[in-house]
Amino acid sequence: MIMKKIVLPLLLFVSFCFAQVTIELSHKQVKHGTSFAVVFQSDAPMSQAPNAIFLDKTYQMFTIGGDITQYVVFLPVDYHTPLKKYDVVVTYLKNTEIEQQKDFIEVVDGQYKQNEIIKVPRGKVTLSTKNKQRAKKEYSKVYSKVYSQVYPHDLTQSSFFQNPMESKITSAFGNARVYNGVAKSYHTGTDFRAAIGDDIFASNYGKVALVMDRFYLGRVIYIDHGRGAYSYYSHLSESLVKEGDIVNKGQLIAKSGDTGRVTGPHLHYAMRLYNTTVDPLQYHKLYNTIVKKYN
Ligand SMILES: [Zn+2]
Repeated sequence: MIMKKIVLPLLLFVSFCFAQVTIELSHKQVKHGTSFAVVFQSDAPMSQAPNAIFLDKTYQMFTIGGDITQYVVFLPVDYHTPLKKYDVVVTYLKNTEIEQQKDFIEVVDGQYKQNEIIKVPRGKVTLSTKNKQRAKKEYSKVYSKVYSQVYPHDLTQSSFFQNPMESKITSAFGNARVYNGVAKSYHTGTDFRAAIGDDIFASNYGKVALVMDRFYLGRVIYIDHGRGAYSYYSHLSESLVKEGDIVNKGQLIAKSGDTGRVTGPHLHYAMRLYNTTVDPLQYHKLYNTIVKKYN
């Protein structure tokens, strides 16, 4: 009882003097191939946005709902990140000095399914020189028009992400895949069961960054949600939107199909965060949790 009486005022005193800024991570441990959030809160308005540094990259943080005392950034953990602890540093301006706070996050095994067997036409696994060049060219177009562009505003307007269709998930993100008996990387999105011509909806508000036909993904739509987040919808039979269109959450944007490298018609739904592939449904959940908690 006496201890409590001393400790509480002491804590209040210490927090009053020193703890004007706090940083909080959404996770202590994060699975490889997923994402996590860093939240910064200050008891006074900030003159400029703080930065978060993770794995040698610096990311600008963004206000939550325009409030200049709290900022957030969603950070990707690449699928191939070695499993260990990493520093997460937040730098910010206090008066005219740059200060920093540090925390850490542990990247742990996502325990994805191993050896998912996929059978596709031979020419879609062992590429001819022509197709290799085509795939390479497509990637550089997507990179320059989509992944290297970070639109600073939150285009989602803080509304929750939803699935692009109501349908059974037939293959989860992260499964290690074997194509025609040869181990080839991992599953970069979530597959939804679909026939040819089923309706596909935008998972959130955003801007159509690109619509194109790709070797692996077939017809694909990229939607920019701002702040480095892009969702994309592939193997489509038809796109109902074009580059530059603003789409609302739940808006009908496409019809499912079997274009590109597929075993049959389905929707491959994926998410890129700062040019890194992340588990799209885990990102939805993370984003929705943060928006609910801090908005
Ligand atoms: Zn897929």
